[in-house]
Amino acid sequence: QDDPIPSITFPDGTEVPALGQGTWAMGEDAGHARAEIESLKAGIDLGMTLIDTAEMYGDGGAEEIVGQAIRGRRDEVFIVSKFYPWNASLKGTIEACERSLERLGADRIDLYLLHWRGNYPLTETVAAFETLKASGKIGAWGVSNFDTDDMEELLRVPDGANVAANQVLYNLSRRGIEFDLLPWCQSRGIPVMAYSPIEQGNILHHPELIHIAKAYQATPAQLALAFLLERDGVIVIPKTSNAERAAENRDCVSLNITDDDWDALDAAFPPPAKKKPLEML
Ligand code: NDP
Repeated sequence: QDDPIPSITFPDGTEVPALGQGTWAMGEDAGHARAEIESLKAGIDLGMTLIDTAEMYGDGGAEEIVGQAIRGRRDEVFIVSKFYPWNASLKGTIEACERSLERLGADRIDLYLLHWRGNYPLTETVAAFETLKASGKIGAWGVSNFDTDDMEELLRVPDGANVAANQVLYNLSRRGIEFDLLPWCQSRGIPVMAYSPIEQGNILHHPELIHIAKAYQATPAQLALAFLLERDGVIVIPKTSNAERAAENRDCVSLNITDDDWDALDAAFPPPAKKKPLEML
């Protein structure tokens, strides 16, 4: 019997699963489309109904893959998409959103994120977000790759406090946000979306991660995901184009790690002792 996926509540009361699915690198190669769609569908069947995508991924191709994976079951999923900072003007944001909706075959993006900071004033982008929300084209809005000072600046612009999430690089080998950004968001009830949660596969060969995972008959990926799910207010979005791995990732929720083993993980992947500028991929 599957253990339930923990849920996260957004500031507006919407509940989503804390374990979702990423889509970076999907939609780039037509020969992979079937596996990508099957993997996303398998993930949805397993409860990973939050799907993260962006206009950037596959140059729109990833949103089309998501559109195919959710066909006929739009109401089961929570769609997150993002737009380029050079589209973040009042008009540009709205038009980017409309193009994304078209590719997704949906009439609403549940959470729409500014992919990273650019040159348009936050006031203008937030005004665009609020317009999109009022028209029902998005359910909520947020940001990505914002450090603590960016978040503070955002809260000072009109309606900036409506920010619903910040999506940032966070995994065992990238724990910088634990020093200030994560507690800052947690204390304000703003969920953090942890991207590249297994460092794009690059931490899976770490001997200590392998060693501890083995003791639970788990895989290194499952342990790395369990570490993030243990944190309050964190949504984890691993990407896989392989349905078996989607099931493997889903099963990370069943791990019950002892305090001693969390300590051993801390020793292998030390938490930050001082402020580090936010890293991004
Ligand atoms: P992840 O850390 O999720 O790693 C993805 C890679 O790991 C893929 O190569 C995948 O290969 C492999 N993989 C997945 N599951 C397993 C497993 N159980 N065992 C072994 N290998 C596995 O990296 P991403 O960078 O893709 O991050 C996740 C998502 O976060 C992105 O897809 C995207 O949606 C978002 N993101 C957002 C960014 C932002 O700036 N806001 C930046 C980067 C990512 P395979 O597909 O073959 O299984």
